[in-house]
Amino acid sequence: MGKAEIAPEVIDILVVDDEQVNLLLLSGLLRREGVNVVCAHNGPESISLVAEHDFALILLDVMMPGMDGFTTAERIRATERGRRIPLIFITAISKEQRHIFKGYESGAVDYLIKPYEHEILRNKVQVFVDMHRQRLAVQHASEALAKTVDELRASGQALSDSRARYQSLFTSMFNGFALLSHEDGPLDLAQARVVEINPAMEQILGRPGSDVIDRQLGAILPNLEGYLRDFAAEVARSGKSGLIESYLSDIKRWLRIQAYVPGPGLLALVAEDVTARRKAEETIQERTFQDPLTGLANRALFLDRLTQSMERSRRRLNYLYAVLFLDLDRFKLVNSSMGHAAGDKVLRAVAEKIKGVARGLDTVARSGADEFALILEELKTPGEALRVARRICQELARPMVVDDHSLHFSASVGVVLGPADYAQPEELLQDAAIAMEHARALGGGKVKVFKWAMRTRAQNALSVNQSLHLALERDQFRLHYQPIFRLNGGGLAGFEALIRWQVDDRLIAPVDFIPQAEQTGLIVPIGQWALAESCRVAAEWDRRFALPRDFTVAVNLSAKQFAQPDLVRQLSRALEENHLEPGRLKLEITETLVMQNPEIVVHKLRSLREMGVKVSIDDFGTGYSSLSYLRRFPINTLKVDRSFVSDLDAFENLIIVRTIVSLAHNLGFDVVAEGIENERQRDFLAELRCEYGQGFLFSKPVRELAALDLLCASCGRHDASS
Ligand code: C2E
Ligand code: MG
Ligand code: MG
Repeated sequence: MGKAEIAPEVIDILVVDDEQVNLLLLSGLLRREGVNVVCAHNGPESISLVAEHDFALILLDVMMPGMDGFTTAERIRATERGRRIPLIFITAISKEQRHIFKGYESGAVDYLIKPYEHEILRNKVQVFVDMHRQRLAVQHASEALAKTVDELRASGQALSDSRARYQSLFTSMFNGFALLSHEDGPLDLAQARVVEINPAMEQILGRPGSDVIDRQLGAILPNLEGYLRDFAAEVARSGKSGLIESYLSDIKRWLRIQAYVPGPGLLALVAEDVTARRKAEETIQERTFQDPLTGLANRALFLDRLTQSMERSRRRLNYLYAVLFLDLDRFKLVNSSMGHAAGDKVLRAVAEKIKGVARGLDTVARSGADEFALILEELKTPGEALRVARRICQELARPMVVDDHSLHFSASVGVVLGPADYAQPEELLQDAAIAMEHARALGGGKVKVFKWAMRTRAQNALSVNQSLHLALERDQFRLHYQPIFRLNGGGLAGFEALIRWQVDDRLIAPVDFIPQAEQTGLIVPIGQWALAESCRVAAEWDRRFALPRDFTVAVNLSAKQFAQPDLVRQLSRALEENHLEPGRLKLEITETLVMQNPEIVVHKLRSLREMGVKVSIDDFGTGYSSLSYLRRFPINTLKVDRSFVSDLDAFENLIIVRTIVSLAHNLGFDVVAEGIENERQRDFLAELRCEYGQGFLFSKPVRELAALDLLCASCGRHDASS
């Protein structure tokens, strides 16, 4: 394929690529009526073509031998003609933002990564072709106009003739035209008087000519933009025509305005309404840089802004900025129980709340499903960043109404304080995410500042995660059972199953792996195993011993497990497979979990109750419970948190325990006190009429065999087998 002919009437697009196939493909794709695709095989060839012809757009390959696309773009931009031509880079080299931003630096209007969608390419190109066409139209019209004015002035005889031509051009012109007159001396556009306007200009201004003629422009457009006034003054002063694109806030339109001086004391304006094109360009920008759901910046824009902040802090001494990385705690619960549409609404509402706290110069982005990131600029003190983070947490904790449900959230926030020594913005963001993980491990709703030590821990966490996978495969989890006794008369009332991870001879405690498993989602298969195993053991005990009626085996359920949409099905399967009566199984869920989104939880709890499974709220007293919800929860038991029981000498703990017990009784729940370590504690709780107790005073969690011994001692046997 040789160089295509450059025809004068059609719009030319330049495509630069060293691969002949690509040139063929692109010209095929872009060829349409009125568009001529000119091909160049390398940078230098494209530069000389640009010097000779007016192109509407250049599509430029990045990777070319010799002069690469970036350098070619820079050279083209350095020429008078090339400066005005929009550029789109097309490349397959890398999706890394770095390259993209390099492209923008050298003046790309847009960026397409191979393989690109043909339709997107065509649409993008069409916007620029339209733009170019409009520009040519303005140019032609104003040239004709200038010619007419010249003729008018030059030839008195031809006046009426020309006048008629002028008039027809004037009225049928697609572009708005206004002739202004002004006093001698420097021009102030606001004070210039309107001599004449054409119908197109009436339309642009939204007023009839009679409303406008003979009035000062400032009276018609009171908010004339300052730079537009400067521009007009300069044209009047120099006598040279000029072109500007400006937004006019009075009429809310973008105009491309050409101004020239047709005679002394006169200024002519030819205006083209380019609002639609500007909107189209903005849409393209938005698609590249905006999160479509929330309208916030997307990750690409965020990283770009972050690069700028990092740059600024290198140049300016004492420049303080901060990056916040925010993750909504338990957001997935919303998606799984209320549906994705509700989830989207929540994300939009959360975005609004965060925007409300951030200041104008800050960047707020949605960087992942339920993850948000902020850059806080121009901070006076590092403490300011923490205050913003806490304010966001407070805002999120305030209820929001979604689909008639009142929801409130907590978020875990990681903070990196700048200036910090990072080469890439991605690394900084990643460290903010690591700090966020630490905040989340503290139980949600917390803010943590990044420290270097966290990096090594994150790396350790990675290996724990891998080992947990193996542990499941190799069957390394064990359940230990801690007995729960009746406090009034002693008898054994059940066990709580507590998981351990056995690696060789070592038993790893749940605190050391459950949070990890929770974060990675591995808690779901681990929890399913624990559930099935508890059901198996409970069923066996039920067969062998004459268990009391209220005897239960309690299993802890994590938030993620509880959020599983098929939890109820999982449970019935575990019960059926082991022939366990549902009333023997008790699920322990934490107070923080249930209060996170009580509306949703109530729903799920009802299904559990219908199945006949019992539910207890674990670690009660450590979270924040709403009494009105508690009343509506179909649960059986409150478990007083160990922290209160362990220190009953503290007066407030004493009051708290007393309150919890009487609250539970009023609501028809029974109470288990955890962590009873001595007789004084046991007696005090018995006196309060707390029904059940669990703790080292009675027994530590024990293996299945030892639990059997306890059962033998407390309950009669059904069979003689051991
Ligand atoms: P939890 O459900 O509140 O369990 C009670 C914890 O308190 C157990 O720790 C138990 O050993 C300990 N404990 C009981 N009595 C006393 C006492 O008198 N003094 C002291 N100092 N401690 C006492 P453990 O077994 O380390 O479990 C810790 C937590 O790990 C549990 O708290 C529970 O939240 C979680 N967990 C355990 N097993 C599972 C499981 O299978 N699934 C899930 N999701 N979480 C589990
Ligand atoms: Mg528990
Ligand atoms: Mg507990």
